[in-house]
Amino acid sequence: MRNTNQMFCDLHTHSVYSVDAARDMTIENMCLSALHRGIGCLAVTDHYDIGFDYKFDPVSREEDFLSAKEKFAGRLDLLRGLELGEMMDGPEEADRIRSAVDYDVILGSVHGRLPGLDYHDLDYRQYEDDAIVRIWKDYLEAMTVLAENGDFDILAHIRYPERYVIRDGRGEVLDVEKKGCEMFEPVLRAIIRRDISLEINTAVVRKFGLQSDPGLSLLKFYRSIGGKHISIGSDAHRRNDLGANMRDALEMALAAGFEEISVFSGRKIRHISIEEGV
Ligand SMILES: [Zn+2]
Ligand SMILES: [Zn+2]
Repeated sequence: MRNTNQMFCDLHTHSVYSVDAARDMTIENMCLSALHRGIGCLAVTDHYDIGFDYKFDPVSREEDFLSAKEKFAGRLDLLRGLELGEMMDGPEEADRIRSAVDYDVILGSVHGRLPGLDYHDLDYRQYEDDAIVRIWKDYLEAMTVLAENGDFDILAHIRYPERYVIRDGRGEVLDVEKKGCEMFEPVLRAIIRRDISLEINTAVVRKFGLQSDPGLSLLKFYRSIGGKHISIGSDAHRRNDLGANMRDALEMALAAGFEEISVFSGRKIRHISIEEGV
């Protein structure tokens, strides 16, 4: 096993400005925990979900963000981020949020296709197999639209609904691993063409004991069709989860043939070597 760098870059985290984050996730507390956990670059990517009640006012976050940025300058690279969900469902609203402040990085994601219902909220035990397959196909179609048209920098948790299907004991219906990675090809080809980075989301490791999202096989497939940009996010909503499973994710990236990860500043991508660090 090769040495991965000691300086982690966690580009997907949620502060108190996300309604589902722990109440002690102030930006300042996040910075303190990040330093403690060996994180050198931290993006605070609060939820603004077009189809859901997960919304915040990016301007109202500025004071806390700027004060933390100044306080931790030189020790922590703090990035002003946003996780913009279902941006294709409300292009004008998405534009307004995107232009509210000068972000360093914007994540694009899809959390659900039924009004107000996150994939997390569905009980997959109640569905026939073909209904689950239909939900999955709808999701992949939405991800393709997002990847082809959305204005964002990192595609977050590409297999999102699958984790909840597995949670409810119906993972064999999708059987993503066995059916191959080709189902993700349109999504991946679109982000490759548009220089959008693919996130390795580690939340499923700690929540469900699964491989990160994507896991090794999908990451290898992405690379085999020309994927170059990857970034890593814990999707932490609690202090203890900041930077969780980063080392494993970096090892997996190396195993898939990647030597660099992407970080962002002012929505411009740059790369840092996994082995040499920042
Ligand atoms: Zn998300
Ligand atoms: Zn998130």
